[in-house]
Amino acid sequence: MTYTFTQSKALFQRAAKVIPQGIYGHFNPATTVPGFYPYFISRAKGCRFWDVDGNEYIDYACAYGPMILGYAHDRIDEAFARQARNGTATMPPSTLLVDLAEKMVEVNDCADWAVFAKNGADAISWAVALARGYRKRDKIVLAHGAYHGTQPWAGTNHIGVLPADRADVLMAPWGDANAFRRVVEENKNRIAGALFTPYHHPVFEPQALPAPGFWRDMRRICDENDIVLIIDDVRAGWRLDIKGSAHYFGFRPDLACYCKAIANGYPISALVGTDRMRMVAAKAFQTGSYWNNSPEMAAALACIDEMQKIDAAAICDSRGGELRRGLEERAAAHGLSFRMSGPNAIPFLHFTNESNFKRAQLFCRECSLRGVYFFWHHNMFLSAAHTEADIQKTIDVADQAFQIVKDQFGE
Ligand code: PMP
Repeated sequence: MTYTFTQSKALFQRAAKVIPQGIYGHFNPATTVPGFYPYFISRAKGCRFWDVDGNEYIDYACAYGPMILGYAHDRIDEAFARQARNGTATMPPSTLLVDLAEKMVEVNDCADWAVFAKNGADAISWAVALARGYRKRDKIVLAHGAYHGTQPWAGTNHIGVLPADRADVLMAPWGDANAFRRVVEENKNRIAGALFTPYHHPVFEPQALPAPGFWRDMRRICDENDIVLIIDDVRAGWRLDIKGSAHYFGFRPDLACYCKAIANGYPISALVGTDRMRMVAAKAFQTGSYWNNSPEMAAALACIDEMQKIDAAAICDSRGGELRRGLEERAAAHGLSFRMSGPNAIPFLHFTNESNFKRAQLFCRECSLRGVYFFWHHNMFLSAAHTEADIQKTIDVADQAFQIVKDQFGE
């Protein structure tokens, strides 16, 4: 079957008339290989989606992370729908608020309490406010290249950001505890919080796992200097470990932010914290119109239970391991320098002999034209719905794409 994108392109032209950019943010076609990828989908089930031209894909974007158990998952969707029939946004909240907070405390290693919002950025902004309120200091340390959302202080946007928005943000390289210590010493008693991802997953770059002792050192520096350690586990949360990525890497943050994999695609995020952060959390006024909606909470409870029951993190790791081995072996057989960096469940693909992504784009384009949805600019995601047969099919498609890269680039 030849993949064409006539309907996608026509729809995009309609979209561009009424929506700035047609599709905005990280869902914009510019993040793929425009012209060779679908712009709009019509349906998704399991680890597959079908675009508006009828093309079928094995999906490794997983909606940038929320899909962990498979699209249109019967159990999660039924939990959501059942609760929706009982009302969605109510005042006072439903009993599910308590059930879900109890579940978060039970599941998460570092949690004595939990609160809920909608997006990752909501939970992270809440955490930063709590760190400042707790320490009564201004400064926050972030890592170069880390993504924490589009809040002005997070440094991702360039439009509409004032110098004042970034005035209290200090930067340090990810993974270098000595460099972090130097930033802390240069700003003695002025840093409220350190906000880091559990491992480094920048865009346009290979990923980096923490070196042995890194998190132990970071924890110690924070403790010695009364700095609140905040973990942004929005992207990696629960794909590595149902107890949270901090547990996976063997340390305890003071605050942890979750979002994407909580409810298999239904909109909910969470901030969890330790007892010492409880008082300041009790004083802070943070809220949103839909933050206490009950159907998302029902979906989250079902999703967490299902993830525990099937050990979703272990499945993602195992399938991701098969994918990594298969792709690296096939690439090597073609004489190509190719590597998957980061955890098995959240890999980033790159050709190690290029920095302009030309090979990666051609590779992804040829995979897309054969029904495998890969990314070149951003890490990808495995889900518990990917089967061994899906991975095998993906490796066979990748083999053909590697051949095309070889023919065009020679190495
Ligand atoms: N932190 C990380 C690590 C993320 O990957 C994201 C989303 N890609 C965010 C924060 C922001 O989450 P949201 O887009 O839901 O606000």
